[in-house]
Amino acid sequence: MRVTFLGTGTSHGVPVIGCDCPVCRSPLPENKRLRSSIWLNFAGRNVVIDTGPEFRLQALRYGLRRLDAVLFSHAHADHIFGFDDIRRFCQMQGEAISVYASPETLKTLRCAFGYIFDLDRNDWTIPRAVPHVLDGPFSLFGQDIKPLTVYHGKTAVTGFRIGGFAYVTDCNMIPDQAMAALQNLEVLVLGALRYKPHHTHFSIGEAIRVIETLQPKYAYLTHLCHEVDHAELIASLPAGIQPAYDGLVVDL
Ligand SMILES: [Zn+2]
Ligand SMILES: [Zn+2]
Ligand SMILES: [Zn+2]
Repeated sequence: MRVTFLGTGTSHGVPVIGCDCPVCRSPLPENKRLRSSIWLNFAGRNVVIDTGPEFRLQALRYGLRRLDAVLFSHAHADHIFGFDDIRRFCQMQGEAISVYASPETLKTLRCAFGYIFDLDRNDWTIPRAVPHVLDGPFSLFGQDIKPLTVYHGKTAVTGFRIGGFAYVTDCNMIPDQAMAALQNLEVLVLGALRYKPHHTHFSIGEAIRVIETLQPKYAYLTHLCHEVDHAELIASLPAGIQPAYDGLVVDL
């Protein structure tokens, strides 16, 4: 499986509009973060987790030319508001795209994008999606996928374990059941907002403690804000943990 990070930024993106901080002004490409999303390629299929507001730009930038399914972590704006951009894939492929989300996330998607779920239309001028409610482990293109419920403040968020890989963003609490399902990982991607504590996201220190408990072979931090300089963070992290950055490719 190949994992491509389409975006690794928090909800504002980095740089932040109107901000002159050193990270927002940094010329380092790793300090420019679109909204968080990843592209998984396995069994010749392309699956993305989340379609943030920059989904079209991300597809163009990283050469995503076919889309077979979308998994959603949760329905916050920075994770869903590029959903309409599946339109082009529907047109090119002449098919509706399968989407997988929790009942709560699907409810919000239907509210914001009701037309995408109108499968009675028979033209491709609008995007179309086939909804699948996540209610336990499932198989997608021959790959077992285990959805995991974690908490982002009071909001339940879906993390995903796919073989030896897991993607868990936007959370500040991982229940025991999900912790048990995250054992023996080759690669863990975990959301961490910034150094200071936050009420709905792990801080970098909290994320490191979770990683040290789970002991994956390798871990990447994502969903980072403009208070985090890529080079400074690399220098401060323990061995085996690295900040993800837009365009990073990991092969498993
Ligand atoms: Zn987010
Ligand atoms: Zn800034
Ligand atoms: Zn969120």
